[in-house]
Amino acid sequence: MLNKLKLYLFNTASRQKEEFVPLKPGEVKLYCCGPTVYHFVHIGNLRTFVFEDFLCRVLAYNGYQVDHTVNITDVGHLTSDEDSGEDKMEKGAAREGKTVWEVAEFYTQSFWKDWERLNLKQPSRWTKATDYIAEQIDLIQKLETRGFSYTNEDGVYFDTAKFPRYADFAKLDIDGLQAGARVEMIDGKRNATDFALWKFSPSDKQRLMEWESPWGKGFPGWHVECSAMALKHGGDTLDIHCGGTDLVRVHHTNEIAQSECATGHTFVRYWVHGEFLRMSADERGVSKMSKSTGNFLTLDSLLENGFSAMDYRYFCMTAHYRSFLTFSWESLTSAMESLRSLRKKTETLIGQEQTLETAEAFAWLERFHSALNDDLNFPQALAVVNQMLKDDTLDDREKAALIKNFDQVLGLGLTEKSESMDKSISLDDELTALVDERNKARAEKNFKRADEIRDIFKSKGLVLKDSPSGTTWEKA
Ligand code: AMP
Ligand code: ZN
Repeated sequence: MLNKLKLYLFNTASRQKEEFVPLKPGEVKLYCCGPTVYHFVHIGNLRTFVFEDFLCRVLAYNGYQVDHTVNITDVGHLTSDEDSGEDKMEKGAAREGKTVWEVAEFYTQSFWKDWERLNLKQPSRWTKATDYIAEQIDLIQKLETRGFSYTNEDGVYFDTAKFPRYADFAKLDIDGLQAGARVEMIDGKRNATDFALWKFSPSDKQRLMEWESPWGKGFPGWHVECSAMALKHGGDTLDIHCGGTDLVRVHHTNEIAQSECATGHTFVRYWVHGEFLRMSADERGVSKMSKSTGNFLTLDSLLENGFSAMDYRYFCMTAHYRSFLTFSWESLTSAMESLRSLRKKTETLIGQEQTLETAEAFAWLERFHSALNDDLNFPQALAVVNQMLKDDTLDDREKAALIKNFDQVLGLGLTEKSESMDKSISLDDELTALVDERNKARAEKNFKRADEIRDIFKSKGLVLKDSPSGTTWEKA
């Protein structure tokens, strides 16, 4: 039998690897910050969601029951961290000539499609910020009653001077921030680090998204939504809270301040942050993957270039989640080749698995598990997988069983034939239009045209499959 291995995670709060022990034995309350749905998620965002999937799978591998909440930010927050700038959702609506609700719905669906294609485990629940306005108002009221907020012309603000530990989490230099902010600080803000809990709608203009509140018509500040939803589903103290490293300085610092001041308890026991995906510098020298610089790629753009979602998932495993990962087509190609070669070795094992018996097999299991439990060391875990496959002392039946076990965490579909993992083929606009045309033709019983379109797909090496829920396609 396998020894019970301890799980270690790097906790941003202590800047150390710590043994993970949940508050309630066997159960983990996990909250992950989700995307703002005013645009497509880019592969940088997806790196963070893939890392969070690794974490969920490792927790489950260690026998924990994971209660996992992911939010969808569909309230229009402002483009800067300082509660000023343009409203992101309104910007998206203006760009596309749609309502903010349509924009949110469209990009949420698109995000979920990526989620599925990357084989990310479904969370216990998705929470949309607009479904939790009452909870957010309730939280702000608690802060007001406890004397942590003040109201100015712009809205209701959290007074960070009332929370002496405010600077600790992100090791902020408050004096420096205070001095630097003097010029652009919103009128009526007492301290540079104070942040909006509720923003008033402008008196001369109707906002596309706004709600009534005890303080007047307006909308919640960005940070409030995560605290309200996390506290509702995770209780006053969560085991783990995740996000990308960019969220540490402002968003998570503010979540801690408002949650702890509202409840009087520690908000989160382990903060686990994923490092950024960068682009190799473009001709302008820009390497930051961001929507505002236009320097970003989506999962669809990878698929259009002949890669599969599993290639990207594998690519994410090639670097530790706390290291920068630099995207280039060359590095993605090399991940694709490594995955192909791995699949070639594992495909011959499919269906042969038997229960593990030998000490060698258990030793490989332990090596794999130790790599995972050492702060999710996936590059090391992949190395173990490849070394195990080369071990001549193991027979194929044990190798097959080990691969089946490992793939619970890797999630690469190594126990399935590769064609069935290629669900992720993306159609270009022309083929998508043909699928639509064919659906219409079938509805009108124009089977001649429907068959012609099927033949066009065939000539491109694709097979169309019709089912009551719609038409799917795969490689022939
Ligand atoms: P956003 O939609 O900007 O709120 O981001 C959604 C998630 O993606 C957050 O956890 C961010 O920290 C994370 N994120 C944003 N940009 C990147 C990037 N380039 N690499 C990795 N994660 C990112
Ligand atoms: Zn958040």
